[in-house]
Amino acid sequence: HVPVICIDGPTASGKGTLASETARRLGYHYLDSGALYRITALAALRAGLALEPEHEQRIARLARDLPIRFVDGTVLLAGEDIGEAIRSEDAGMNASKVSALPAVRSALVALQQGFRTLPGLVADGRDMGTVIFRDAPLKVFLTASAARRAERRHKQLISKGVSVTIDTLRADLEARDARDTQRAVAPLKPAQDALLLDNSDQTIEQSVAQVLAWWDE
Ligand code: C5P
Repeated sequence: HVPVICIDGPTASGKGTLASETARRLGYHYLDSGALYRITALAALRAGLALEPEHEQRIARLARDLPIRFVDGTVLLAGEDIGEAIRSEDAGMNASKVSALPAVRSALVALQQGFRTLPGLVADGRDMGTVIFRDAPLKVFLTASAARRAERRHKQLISKGVSVTIDTLRADLEARDARDTQRAVAPLKPAQDALLLDNSDQTIEQSVAQVLAWWDE
């Protein structure tokens, strides 16, 4: 069976950084499942669909047939590089809206499971361990305090020249977490067999070392 490590957790907990670095160190593939929801939301808006439950089936159909390709770290939607467009705070909030629609989640299951190829996979998201790769031998639930997460996101955005206050960011990420935690399908929560990792006071290297140590056990 192809090995898979799941890294789930709330918004801006550092899952992407931890998962992609762990994948690099192990020589495994990396799945950024949040990107698929972000791309779905973008595709729906471009198709003129409001991100509302009344359009659930149409958005799900778009999700099932997404014309995406991942090439050398860039994401192409119908040939267009949309890496930047899906990274904004708005894109994250839009992803959270479409991800609450059950048909959209089902439409993306096969695509996500298809990333599990040799030599192995590190997958980050909200439901990698609870739904998509339930049999994964290592599941990590990554958390950090809301204050710390807002602070880190603020630093990232400021360095990109985006002006926004820490308080606004914190309110936005708490609103997104609330929606992700309270939705009916695949709500954000640790899998029963997940190991909890709080990286509030850890460097990236320390978190990576912890995951690799668990993987070696
Ligand atoms: O991780 P990221 O911030 O890119 O995810 C964007 C949104 O997509 C999340 O807020 C969540 O609502 C949704 N998501 C999800 N399940 C996943 C990954 C992301 O519902 N596995």
